[in-house]
Amino acid sequence: AEGQENSVGAIHELPLQNSPSPQSPVPSPELLCTRRARLKKIGQQVMVGDRVEIEEPDWAGGRGAIAQVLPRETELDRPPIANADQIILVFALAEPDLEPFQLSKFLVKAESTELEVSLCLNKSDLVSLEVRKAWRDRLSAWGYEPIFISVYDGSGLDELTAKLNNKITVLAGPSGVGKTSLINYLIPGLEQRVGEVSGKLSKGRHTTRHVELFELPKGGYLADTPGFNQPDLDCSPEELTQYFPEIRERLAENNCQFNDCLHGDEPNCAVRGDWERYEHYLEFLESAIAHQEHLNQQS
Ligand code: GDP
Ligand code: ZN
Repeated sequence: AEGQENSVGAIHELPLQNSPSPQSPVPSPELLCTRRARLKKIGQQVMVGDRVEIEEPDWAGGRGAIAQVLPRETELDRPPIANADQIILVFALAEPDLEPFQLSKFLVKAESTELEVSLCLNKSDLVSLEVRKAWRDRLSAWGYEPIFISVYDGSGLDELTAKLNNKITVLAGPSGVGKTSLINYLIPGLEQRVGEVSGKLSKGRHTTRHVELFELPKGGYLADTPGFNQPDLDCSPEELTQYFPEIRERLAENNCQFNDCLHGDEPNCAVRGDWERYEHYLEFLESAIAHQEHLNQQS
């Protein structure tokens, strides 16, 4: 009963990943946990995806107390997830049409995290081989190698599944591209389990603040991402320059005249040029500058 109030957050947002040792008599590897008072005192929060040490787990009763949160390898703010390895953006090749600028926005947002970024293009059953090839070439010039899939005809799903193995993956993308269909394919029986979970917890999965990791049959976890689905950029102009593979590639070969070049109209810029997304870059740059000025005015 220690700190009821505080424990609620942890209970709702903690899918425990510590599998019990094989000999422990467990009905389920999930424990409802409170935080030890010591953790509260130092303000140590527990996030979804955290690796934790549990003191005296009561496997039969399904209860435990978190004594320690292990150092995080990565940390995402929105959605709040610790230790995720990668973000896979899911878009559709058609229905809805693949919008380059929207895709760019998601890519830049994903690049602004410390996670690895990949791209998965669904509904390849709706387009010809030529259309797929055209996107492959185009996105390759952006610095990405998309995985083409179709949840309908099954193509590419093995390749995608292999990429998820033993990793914590965040799936994101606009609505209508087939994320739900994909998740249901990847995690058979999920619908039912979601029902059980929402029954167990008062706050359902459908509240936008709820974050949950779902275990993949072959190992690894998948997070669906409310909150990442309408990305708004809130980075500084300097940060933005790091979120384009095209820029990273150009700077690996040549330097701009100024170290703090933002690749706008500075003289002797090695980045400015005729690459497709340069226009996107300039547009994001403008909003990043506006965002920064806004912050400066506030302080
Ligand atoms: P979400 O909004 O991203 O979760 O997308 P849904 O999973 O709800 O799918 C949106 C629509 O696309 C539904 O009508 C699906 O049946 C359809 N859909 C999903 N995957 C595919 C696919 O691979 N090919 C085609 N043609 N349609 C698909
Ligand atoms: Zn430059």
